[in-house]
Amino acid sequence: MRLVLLGVPGAGKGTQGRRLVERFSIPQIATGEILREAVKNGTPLGLAAKARMDAGLLVPDEVVIGIVEERLKAADCARGFILDGFPRTTAQAEALDAMLNRAGTPLERVVNLVAPTDQVVARLSTRLECPVCHRTYNPSGAAPKDGVHCDEHPEATLIHRVDDDVEKIRKRIEVFHAETAPLAEYYRRDGRLRDVEGLGDVDEVTGRVLAALEGVAKARA
Ligand SMILES: [Zn+2]
Repeated sequence: MRLVLLGVPGAGKGTQGRRLVERFSIPQIATGEILREAVKNGTPLGLAAKARMDAGLLVPDEVVIGIVEERLKAADCARGFILDGFPRTTAQAEALDAMLNRAGTPLERVVNLVAPTDQVVARLSTRLECPVCHRTYNPSGAAPKDGVHCDEHPEATLIHRVDDDVEKIRKRIEVFHAETAPLAEYYRRDGRLRDVEGLGDVDEVTGRVLAALEGVAKARA
């Protein structure tokens, strides 16, 4: 199953992504993370990315694509993958399609978690974060098991994110919509996009996500 997971901030992308990872035994690949990793490991593409970042420039699409391509060759991607945080633009989506089609492993589906702005603002402004792994929790949805500490880091008391104040959140959501609208349209045009209502009971959302994967999931079972 080869997926891209899109979603407005606060629509539960982290939680639903983790559930898909468990259910289908495929990795969730956060491009920000693998980019940092490539820089840290000093791979040729990592060094190219670092040179651009050090100069205050954006990392060019072909470098990011190259880093994604390398990551997808790892053994844990044999059954598929979930891309998270990439692509962000239509040009990147086209480059990603070209790369995956060349490899004979086309992208099958794009799940877009949607939610009304007022509701995600409310959700995000009460969000808590683990200071160690940066996993986020929400008292009204994906709450931590003991209510206070990270599930994976019992020593870490969850904190309220400083950038989670209402005005900044609104701005972030506006930017997100402006950036991803053309991208969603690109995938909608050829029938790969599925909009999924991201708010509500976590299990119900997972049910809707799985329904959106129908066809793809069946073919793999
Ligand atoms: Zn943690």
